[in-house]
Parts: sequence; structure tokens; C-alpha cells
Amino acid sequence: MSERAPTAAPSEERITRVAAIVAVIGPVLAIVGLAAASGRGLPMPLTLAALASIAILASSIARARRAAPVAAGLGVVGLVGLALFRASFASAPIERASPESIVLPIVEAPDGVGAYRIETGVIHRTASFAHRGGSFDVPRVFAMNAVLVTHPAGDVLIDSGLATEVDAHLEAMPAPFRLLTDLERGVSVDVQLDRLGYDRTHLLGIVLTHAHWDHVSGAADLDDVPLLVPEAERAFLDEGWITAVARSLSRDRFHTYDFDDGPALDAPRSHDVHGDGSIVIVPAPGHTPGSVMVLVTDSRARRFLFVGDVVWQREGITQREERPWLTRLGDHDADAVRARIASLAAIAEAHPEITIVPSHDARAYEALEPLSAVR
Ligand SMILES: [Zn+2]
Repeated sequence: MSERAPTAAPSEERITRVAAIVAVIGPVLAIVGLAAASGRGLPMPLTLAALASIAILASSIARARRAAPVAAGLGVVGLVGLALFRASFASAPIERASPESIVLPIVEAPDGVGAYRIETGVIHRTASFAHRGGSFDVPRVFAMNAVLVTHPAGDVLIDSGLATEVDAHLEAMPAPFRLLTDLERGVSVDVQLDRLGYDRTHLLGIVLTHAHWDHVSGAADLDDVPLLVPEAERAFLDEGWITAVARSLSRDRFHTYDFDDGPALDAPRSHDVHGDGSIVIVPAPGHTPGSVMVLVTDSRARRFLFVGDVVWQREGITQREERPWLTRLGDHDADAVRARIASLAAIAEAHPEITIVPSHDARAYEALEPLSAVR
């Protein structure tokens, strides 16, 4: 009987080792599955089934031998991490806060001021990726658009949409980001302008809400058109993969402007592009150091506020929900973003006549006329 003892110990050791590996890998796989489900909309029941089976497997193997406290401990840590990760997607409305004052510029917009949407592609995601409290199985179209703002003294684009060579731009992004990104290509801004017979000498520049890849991509096709940014954003260009596309453009194209005009919205200073209040750039640091919002008042006195990526979709403002933790990793200063969301929610309540357009909310662009309507 005594000869059985030596064989029992190694097998127990092996089971413990396997248990430890499974206990760690299980929750990690489940977290990757959750992240993928939030970004690409994998079938949620499948993800949940995988998640449950992994957790059961991990805990049962960990309990199989008394000599498995390490495996059990690792499993518990992993499962707690998984629970925390899942909780970071849960609703958590930001506290209400009203700005001291909200100033709307007095506008004397001449005839011919209009804002037109230019759709250049979409990314398919889920509501859970867009804002906290969003569902994992509600699909959401993330618009990848530019906006043409016409003005008799010179037109501007707000952001530039996706370039013809968007695939090469996407290649410059890290693999996990590409894993979460289900891109449907459209027609780039330059091609759409050319098809319309648009005279590009009317373009003063591209006002970037910020310099992230998806806002600057289409600028690659619009050679020589200046990119208008505040100094803080130009300085930010050298930071990380998210501005790799901006760095690939000639630095000479980046022109800076100062906020040397009067108060607008909740900001004490602004930049009034034509001096008539029709296109007013308002500083909104947070998502990036030099992020801005653009308040456009057209010839028909309709007001649009292009808020860039302060939020990705309108529930961010209407429900005061920030992005989930995973996607907040892309924010330069998440606290500043939170404060801005509270402020924008107050502005939206006080001025329901302003159409707020988050960069990636396809629904919000429906209030704008399509590019084909440009006269
Ligand atoms: Zn963006």
C-alpha cells in the first residue's frame, strides 16, 4: 500500500498547477470577452455562457484538492476583478452642477451660413461602449463624420472624417483597439467635395475638435488645408498612438489660434472665427488638453453645438453618464470631462433650442442637412 503515496503527490501538484492557470486565465478571458462585447457587440448570451462556464470550471478545479489555496486565491482575485470590470459599465450619473453663467453670443450671421454633415463611414459598437448604463446588446452606430460650415467670408470643416487610406491609419492603432473596432468604410471628404464641384479655395481650414486619429484622418486627403488647433492641442500631438495619424501630417499644416474673444457658453474666453458670432470656438479641455467645442449659428438662427468627444453619444449629456472605464482610458483628464458633462447637461436644459452634436452620435447629425444640400 505504501507504494501508492509517491504517485498521488505529483498528480495533486499537477491539478493544483492546472487549477491555478485556469483560475487566472478564466477571468482574464471573460474580461476580454466583455470588452469585445462592449466594443463590437458579440452575442451577449454566448459571452455570458462562456463567462459562467469559465468561472464554474475555475472554482471547481480550485476546490478539487485541499492543497489548492493558491489556485482558489487567484481565482477569487480574478473573479473580483471581473466583477469590478463589469461594474465599470454600470450607470453612475454625474452630479448636477450649474455653470455660474451661460453666455450665448449675439449673432449677426450673414446669408449663406449653414452646417452640413459629411458622412465618411461608421463603426459598429454597442450602447455599453458609448456611455455608462448603456446596454451590451443595443447596437449603436458611431458616426465618423465631418461637418462643412459655410460662410461668405470663408468656410470651415469641423473635423475631417475618415480618409481614403483609413485602413493604413487603423493599422497604426494598437491590436486591442483594432479588435474592438468594426469599421464600415464610406467615401472620404475630399471625394465628396469634388463630386459636388466644391471650390476648395473657399476652405479656410479644418477646425479640429481634437487631434485623435478618427478626427484628423480625412485631413490626409486635403493637402494644404490648414488644421486649426489651440496651442495646447498642438503640444499634445507628440503624445502616444492616438495622435499617430496627426503626427504623420506635415507639422506646418497645424495653425494655432488664441481664445481672445469674449465669453461663450460657460467659458470666459472664446475664438470667434469671423467676428460675427456665427462660428465660435469654445475651449473644452479634458478628452485631450486642447479639445474644443464649436457653436454654430446659421443664417436661419438655428444653433448647433459640436461637442467633439466630450461624450460619444447624447445619453452622455441627457443622462449625465460618462464613458465606461475601459474607454475612459483614452481621456487625458477624466475629472475635467466629468465636470464638462455636468456643465453641458445644464446648458442643454437651459437652452433646448441648441442642437448638441457629439462627434460620434449618428442620430444627432440628422438635424443637419446633408452635404448635397449645399448651394
Ligand atoms: Zn473620436
